[in-house]
Amino acid sequence: MLTNVARMASDQERRLRRDTLAVRAGLRRSQFEETAEAMFLTSGYVYPNAAEAEATFKEEVERYSYSRYHNPTVSMFEDRLAALEGAERCYATPTGMSAVFAVLGGLCAAGDRIVASKALFGTCYTICADVLPRWGVEAVFVDGTNLDEWREALSVPTTAVFFETPSNPTLTLVDIAAVSELAHAAGATVVVDNVFGTPLFSTPLAHGADVVVYSSTKHIDGQGRILGGAVLGRESLLREVVRPMIRNLGLTLSAFNAWVLVKSLETMDLRLRAQAANALQVAQWLESRPDVVSVCYPGLDSHPQAELARRQMTGFGTVVTFTVDADKEGAFRVLDALQIIDISNNLGDTKSLITHPATTTHSRFSAEELADMQITAGTMRLSVGLEDPLDIIEDLEAAFAAR
Ligand SMILES: *Cc1c(COP(=O)(O)O)cnc(C)c1O
Repeated sequence: MLTNVARMASDQERRLRRDTLAVRAGLRRSQFEETAEAMFLTSGYVYPNAAEAEATFKEEVERYSYSRYHNPTVSMFEDRLAALEGAERCYATPTGMSAVFAVLGGLCAAGDRIVASKALFGTCYTICADVLPRWGVEAVFVDGTNLDEWREALSVPTTAVFFETPSNPTLTLVDIAAVSELAHAAGATVVVDNVFGTPLFSTPLAHGADVVVYSSTKHIDGQGRILGGAVLGRESLLREVVRPMIRNLGLTLSAFNAWVLVKSLETMDLRLRAQAANALQVAQWLESRPDVVSVCYPGLDSHPQAELARRQMTGFGTVVTFTVDADKEGAFRVLDALQIIDISNNLGDTKSLITHPATTTHSRFSAEELADMQITAGTMRLSVGLEDPLDIIEDLEAAFAAR
């Protein structure tokens, strides 16, 4: 029966290997013994008697009671992702941003302090720089690659530390173990946005972080269909910090989206391995091109933090950022000449997608700030998909000729 809401991996699950967990973890079969995970499109649940309803509200029994709190399809996704992440607990959310806000908003109250790296996804930066300060939280930003800046910022008591590694779009890394040590000494909870790292290639919890957040819109769905998010970490911490935010603010993943995501997890590692191999091949080809000024991919020896990337990642992701020798008009001619790669600001899709950060995702930054991040008019962020890498390369080659 489907009354088991509580999440803790069973002993059997703990012994299983990753590829098995990807297709089996968290499965809850109904009395119909269906093969595939079922989609429970229901807002409520019925009680056999009034006493059980009372016991449920007193939290004396844990069972499904209302889909803002939990839903069997959502539980299957949460448990499967937790198993893959090696986390005690996962809470699913309807978007990546609600995952970020559920954690940071849940951790911080007026008078608290958050230290974050500057190189954040735009809306994550807005939460730290605008939303939290309106409620009396002090936000301090550092260059995430510079341990001295972290040390200085964390020399006073701090509530939360937040960073993304690798960052968007410049693919700079933060040393998770070193920053976590400094953060813990300052009393802070370490929250890592692991979207670019991906659940396969980067395991921040194993390097000392306390909480991992995902936009499952990206590689977890990986097929450009739905929005979703997730928060992972210790059961005790998330139960206190994240569970009330999700329940009370209604930051609830829909059963339909959870069903898409739980099935996506079955193939996620296969997709990611193939896409990362394609990304490396494309990055290496870009490095050989005279019309390309610079190529950034953590798996290249030329990446300034290649050593750190090898230390804390087991693969280097699906995004390659490069700069062509062109002004804005030249860059637009290249983008418009592409026949296969689509112009889109999404990423982590099976289809290769390209964006021009200076005029889209990073248009809020001043020319000075962009130069600081080494984003110029010729910079492009390419999310490499599952197409044949030779077709991607030929598409780029033909488009460069239009420059
Ligand atoms: C896309 C993204 C988010 C936000 O996720 P949504 O699902 O769009 O809400 C947060 N962080 C990073 C790094 C992202 O790429």
